[in-house]
This record gives sequence, structure tokens and C-alpha cells, in this order.
Amino acid sequence: MRIEIPFAVRQILEKLGQSGYEGYIVGGCVRDMLLGRSPEDWDITTSARPEQVKELFKRTIDTGIQHGTVTVMMDHVGYEVTTYRVDGTYSDGRHPDQVVFTPSLIEDLKRRDFTINAMAYSPAAGLVDEFQGQEDLRAGIIRCVGNPAERFSEDALRMLRAIRFSAQLGFEIDPKTLEAIRLLAANLEKVSRERVQVELTKLLMSANPQRMSLVYDTGLAPFVGEAFGGLGETGWRPSLSGGLPVKKPLRWAAFLREAGPEQARKILKGLMLDNDTISRTETLVRFWAVPLSEKKPDIRRGMSVMGAELFGDLLDLKEGLAGSKETEEAKTEEIRRIRLLKDEILADGDCLSLKDLALTGRDVMEETELRGPLVGQCLNRLLQLVLEDPKRNQREYLLQSLREFSIIE
Ligand code: ATP
Ligand code: MG
Repeated sequence: MRIEIPFAVRQILEKLGQSGYEGYIVGGCVRDMLLGRSPEDWDITTSARPEQVKELFKRTIDTGIQHGTVTVMMDHVGYEVTTYRVDGTYSDGRHPDQVVFTPSLIEDLKRRDFTINAMAYSPAAGLVDEFQGQEDLRAGIIRCVGNPAERFSEDALRMLRAIRFSAQLGFEIDPKTLEAIRLLAANLEKVSRERVQVELTKLLMSANPQRMSLVYDTGLAPFVGEAFGGLGETGWRPSLSGGLPVKKPLRWAAFLREAGPEQARKILKGLMLDNDTISRTETLVRFWAVPLSEKKPDIRRGMSVMGAELFGDLLDLKEGLAGSKETEEAKTEEIRRIRLLKDEILADGDCLSLKDLALTGRDVMEETELRGPLVGQCLNRLLQLVLEDPKRNQREYLLQSLREFSIIE
């Protein structure tokens, strides 16, 4: 394998081994190592019980002790060490009713969702691949461990995970696994919206976001939510968002752009997305099709209203959606010119918000009789003058303008 196991992880495995227990890295990190990708995190599975793990290591945290997970701290980095377990039955299709520990690694691997996620490795024992995970990894196939219908009945989220992994890795879903998704799609309704959202977000942030079409084709979409399912009928065009920067609001906006801002907000709220992502996405959906001016004062106004970063995201979205057709090339050029102007505005440090204005609320109150919300309104008028021409952001000029306002009113 080309990827190195971190030293701390080796130490944990060694310590377990020296104490008479088995210890392996398992799941996503083994899959990613075999693919030559750097794993996000290193999960360890062991025959040792949680109490035994806690005895072996100086610093541990009871992260999910009821599920057998202890976090072992090594040099301020935490590694999850989980006892071999079988998940028992899922009578609600959501949570295992009880977690039962087992002395058998193979039993633990059997409960895992897909063959490519059901491999374990240790430097001492080598690779344990009981379900032909390597073969599926080579062939690019997402396949359930065991009977797909049973596995999806235990935990319906796995159906969405199958599509998410297929999008991340560019893999195909095995026909039997796919068939079981079509059959059991309605079970997704039982899963918590947060878990559904996490998978959909990962899907959209992947290298193949257009695979969202599978969520519709398999019949899962209506069970994500009514409004979400409804997007399928209005002609969701999946082919466009692959080259976009990997940012949550951008990817969600590309997907929801035809829905309109209100509907987009409703869908994301239903999926329990955080408020910041919701409001950014809503803004992008509102403006993605609105033509932008190439005049600097207009660009400053745009940057001032939505914030410089989101304005940049809007340009990225517009460019990403403009595509490569000849008719669209002029549009792409225009966006690039606007981006250059935006960068110039940032480099010059032009004032874009009240906090950069050369006059404060206190100044306004000292100079005028204005109080309360009128002070803010007044500052906003001054900001508008400065957005028009940044050279105006000088105390003397703004005080003069302030006096002129007061005379008129
Ligand atoms: P990622 O790169 O997204 O972290 P991962 O494979 O590590 O991918 P996790 O959700 O972190 O996915 O889960 C770690 C491992 O736990 C998986 O590889 C799989 O073996 C197992 N697993 C996670 N969720 C489920 C599930 N719903 N059903 C069965 N096994 C699961
Ligand atoms: Mg993981």
C-alpha cells in the first residue's frame, strides 16, 4: 500500500497486540489506502472491551461507550477505537436495538454496509478481506455485504450511502443492490433528516454531483421530502455542477437553482441544514440568473450587500453554469472581467461596509440631532456615496455630505 499508517495509529495497534488483543484499522481508511487516497480519519477495531481499551491508554474519552467506542488521545489527536460488535436488529429501521460485542473480527466486518468498506488491515496480520472488497474496489462496484434487501431494511440510510459512495468514487452500484434500493426506497422516510442531509451534501460535494439523478431514478427522492421530490418533475438538469468549487452553498445552489429562493430555503430547512449555509444558498439561487453590471460602483454595491466572499461564489456559480457552448463564451468572458474588477476592489481595500466608513454613528450624533435608527439610515446613505466612489471615504467629505443631508431634510 502506498499510504503510510500514521505512527500514532501503529502505536495503538501494537499496544493492543502486546496486551493480547487483536487490533486492526478498518472501513473507510483501508478502502482509501487501497485506492491510494489519503484517509480522512483512522478507525480502529479491536477485540478488547471498552474498559480494557481504557486501561491500556493514558488518555481516553468515552465518545460512544454504549456502542463500544473509546477515543484514544495520542499527541492531542483522537483516534476512535471500537470493540468488535454485531448490531442486532433494527426494529425501527434506524438504530440498532442493542449492540452486542463479539470476539470475532469477521462478525464485525459482516455488519458493515458495503464490501469496499468491510476490510480490515494490520501490519501484523495483513489485509482481512472476507467479502471480496478488493475485487469490487478494482472493478469499481458498490455492493452490499450480504443480502441487500436485508441490509437496507436494517438501516435505510445505507441506500443513500450507496449513491453517495458511487458519486465520490465514480463507481457503479451492483444491479442487485440497485434493485433493492428501488424496492425499499420508501423506508428512507424513517431516517433522521440530519443523516439524510449529511449524505446528500457529501454527494453534491463529490467529483460526480450529477449522480444526484440516481436519487430520483431509484425513487428515493420523494422520501427525502415532498418539495425535494417535486424538483424531479420540474426537470432537474443534473449535468452541470461537476466543475464547481467544492463549497456547500455553491453545490447546493447549483442543484436547487431552478427551484427559486423560497423553495430552496424550504427544502434546506426541512433537511436541517445550518442557517448560514441556507441563507448563502438562498442568495446564490436568487441571483445566479440575474445579469451583473461591469461597472465598478455596481460591483462594489453587490459585494457590499452580500459580502465579498459570497459575491465571489456567485461569480463561480455563474461561470460554472455558463458551460462551454460558443454562445456562452462571451458570458464567461464577462464574468472573468467582473472577477478581475472584484479582485482590484479587494486589493485597493475599498470601503464596502459601515465598519470601514470614515465616519461613525457617534460622529453623526455629534453633528446632527439624529438618534436611533435614523443614525443607521444616515450612515447607509453615506456608504452609498462611498460605494459610488471610494475616494469619498474621508472624514471631511462625509461631514460635508452629512450637513447637506440635514439641510434638505
Ligand atoms: P467517509 O470517507 O465518508 O468517512 P467512511 O467509509 O469512513 O467514509 P463512515 O461513515 O465514516 O464512512 O463510517 C466508517 C465505517 O463504518 C464505514 O466504512 C463502514 O464500514 C461502517 N459504517 C458506517 N455507516 C454504516 C451504516 N449505516 N451501516 C453499516 N456500516 C456502516
Ligand atoms: Mg470515515
